[in-house]
Amino acid sequence: MKFIMVTGGVLSGLGKGVITSSLGLLLKQCEYKVTVVKVDPYLNVDAGTMNPFEHGEVFVLDDGTEVDLDLGNYERFLDMELSGEHNITTGKVYKAVIEKERRGDFLGATVQIIPHIVNEIIERIERAGEDTGSDITLVEMGGTVGDIESMPFLEAVREIKNKHGKENVLVVHATLVPVMGVVGEQKTKPTQHSVKELMRIGIQPDIILCRSTEPLEERPKKKISQFCNVEEEAIFTSHDVKIVHQVPLLFEEQNVTSVVEKKLNLSPRKPDLVQWKEYVARSTSPKEKIRIALVGKYTGLKDSYISHLKALTHASAALGAVPEIVWFDSEKVVRGGDINVGTDLAALEDVDGILIPGGFGFRGIEGKIETARIARTKGIPFLGICLGFQVAVIEFARHVLDLQGANSSEFDPGTVHPVIDLLPEQMDVEAKGATMRRGGQTVLIKSGTMAHDIYGTGVIRERHRHRYEVNLEYIKMIEGAGFMFSATSKDGVRMEIGELRGSAYHVGCQFHPEFLTRPNRPAPLFLRFVEEALKRKRG
Ligand code: GLN
Repeated sequence: MKFIMVTGGVLSGLGKGVITSSLGLLLKQCEYKVTVVKVDPYLNVDAGTMNPFEHGEVFVLDDGTEVDLDLGNYERFLDMELSGEHNITTGKVYKAVIEKERRGDFLGATVQIIPHIVNEIIERIERAGEDTGSDITLVEMGGTVGDIESMPFLEAVREIKNKHGKENVLVVHATLVPVMGVVGEQKTKPTQHSVKELMRIGIQPDIILCRSTEPLEERPKKKISQFCNVEEEAIFTSHDVKIVHQVPLLFEEQNVTSVVEKKLNLSPRKPDLVQWKEYVARSTSPKEKIRIALVGKYTGLKDSYISHLKALTHASAALGAVPEIVWFDSEKVVRGGDINVGTDLAALEDVDGILIPGGFGFRGIEGKIETARIARTKGIPFLGICLGFQVAVIEFARHVLDLQGANSSEFDPGTVHPVIDLLPEQMDVEAKGATMRRGGQTVLIKSGTMAHDIYGTGVIRERHRHRYEVNLEYIKMIEGAGFMFSATSKDGVRMEIGELRGSAYHVGCQFHPEFLTRPNRPAPLFLRFVEEALKRKRG
């Protein structure tokens, strides 16, 4: 079993997720069996309780685990499905160790960070590799070298390297090489310092990946090599590129794969990147632009909607287009609005398609309902996801069925028309962590519907994350007026897809199709959405 540990220095936000995914892709395309683990040094057990505005999107795996958005990157790049075991957090580690201590597993020992916490981390990393039968396990260490929280994880890296041997464990250190405005020179000191910090805890990096705006120049490369004990051929540039999918190609141009193979004592293979290159070519030279409104409340941090953006990008690329996202803060979308105080609704009519993503809580909900009304009445292609789907149902109930005050009991517990209501099994649930209806579930699609035509099958599996759903008592009424539920859960009691009969595309889904999009295999509901938006654009 081989390991590649990716650490980060200088600052956060270097794109270690993309770096790790890219290394993984290159090795996978060499026909090695690879898997990926993300280490998050925070105390939360999982990402499910974290605010997307602070931390970016919560990604949901097939097994229902709520994880860091980097796991979405791995799944998309490597076209694989991961389990919750592949996201190790400080919370999970401590919880497990404390449970073992309570059970008496440590036989009277004093339970300590070293060895108990570190051993737990090592076991988890090894298990992720073993359980998936992988040749190579890539581990992305969240956080930055030097953080107090990361210490036990870095100690685990040091120990794994000792235990498994140098030829089986590679440390790839990602750092920043900034350019000082006045002199315009690439500065290596931050890299030198972060490598020193790593070495202080006993880790010598094998490969250094330098993030920079422009390609790394020879002089700074030599300097880094000299001061960090890494040969020049193992120092690579990871400068800014147009789209993240170019990163594996950038690495390959520099022979990253053969250096990795050499250091890990693997026989040389070449990655097959034909399809990947095709995707990159298609998406970097689009024939047209498509304007999609994204109406949500976390528009201040684009990472909050990263999977939606990927899904739109993949779908557009398949159709020779590139999406231009027009962000609308749902709290500012108000009827009779003014561009200074709210958002002029006319701006919403000026786009080719409207997307309302998932969300929680009351803020901005009326703006979303108003958005769905505009989409429906003006015939603008509309895709509502999870909360967006619920919003479409509320809007339809209010304005077509004339059920005044119709709402979700999430936002108005006393509403006379709770067209969206709590899932029955949620009635007694109070804890917030990992308690929603989550993960992959079978969805049955009725034949003769738009959804059936889109998916080309009657049985699909999609990922979920919700507490509320369409209230069965209103189904007959809603369907009678033309909004039909074209897909349900296996037992038929959960509405999974809704479509406005006769519309070009006014569709909502309770699940999250954005979690299953792939560069060369866009999510079907997104693909049709973009297709219809393109039609509208072309007139
Ligand atoms: N808040 C809604 C619910 O819990 C929608 C959730 C979501 O959009 N992920 O059902």
